[in-house]
Amino acid sequence: MGILSMNHRSPEFMAMMESTVKLLKDRLKIPRDYTVLFTGSATECWEVIAQSVIGPMPSLHFYNGAFGEKWSDYTRRLCPQAQAVSFGREDDLAVENYTKLSGLICVTQNETSNATQVGQSRLAILRKNNPASLIAVDATSSMAGIRLNFALADIWYASVQKCFGLPAGLAVMALSPKAMTRARSLKEKGHYNSLLFMGEMMEKWQTSFTPNVLGMYLLQRSLDAGKPITQTDRKTNERFRGWVKFFEGGQKLRLLVSNPQVRSKTVIAVQGSPATVEEVKSRARSSGFLLGEGYGALKKDSFRIANFPALKKKEIHRLMDFLRPHLQ
Ligand SMILES: *Cc1c(COP(=O)(O)O)cnc(C)c1O
Repeated sequence: MGILSMNHRSPEFMAMMESTVKLLKDRLKIPRDYTVLFTGSATECWEVIAQSVIGPMPSLHFYNGAFGEKWSDYTRRLCPQAQAVSFGREDDLAVENYTKLSGLICVTQNETSNATQVGQSRLAILRKNNPASLIAVDATSSMAGIRLNFALADIWYASVQKCFGLPAGLAVMALSPKAMTRARSLKEKGHYNSLLFMGEMMEKWQTSFTPNVLGMYLLQRSLDAGKPITQTDRKTNERFRGWVKFFEGGQKLRLLVSNPQVRSKTVIAVQGSPATVEEVKSRARSSGFLLGEGYGALKKDSFRIANFPALKKKEIHRLMDFLRPHLQ
């Protein structure tokens, strides 16, 4: 079909880009006035935000796990004034304590490393109490899995290898008019992926570098064939409740996160003794399941299960059948 050799300045590419952006906004309910841009990864988004939005202004990172902490670390390399506040894995983000902030507030909506989430009602409070600041949200492992209210923040991003169910090498960024205005006032144009440069190219449905054309094509096709996010959200939540029920009363395996308010809907972390976890992981391998390792310090006594939309119902049931004998 000529996809693999498509010239990224050609009318065919521009039409594909236009249609992909339109589908993204339609399927995920991204506000019409938000600007959609593409990068190569969520990590790249961390840098783009630091160089092109934060610059010399203050930023405050809230984190309770490895990805949020990494975002803050990457930002500090470019913006040494960046501040960070950590909170506990079982804690609701104490948004009430932060009012009238200026600059950029950075929140990891779904912390993939420990299977927690910052609920959107928390984001709404943060938004309401900090009208002068911009809010950026890492939704890498929740976008396209649950319904996100994009109006609650100015910058959202996600790479496509999590809930979009696509091969790695592409990330989606959605920015409010306020975020674009901020980028215009900062006037940062020193990088190939400077936000302003990417935004100008996007007005012509082009990119500032040769993009992942195949990734974009796959994104367009999967969005086109996919369901609106409200339906996917229902499915994700139903399956999430199924997993919670599954682990209820488990003696040897239980959910890592005990506070129901902060449990991620798209990543399930399961805890057990190191011996149980090791046994489950090795048996899983020989039975053809690839369980997610526990992240960092949680490696020995936990593992993670993706609750991503691309999984089939029968695959989930097969995994439940495999895990059931290990519960007690
Ligand atoms: C996976 C992940 C990332 C990193 O994504 P890359 O595409 O590898 O850069 C960042 N943040 C969160 C929350 C993630 O889950």
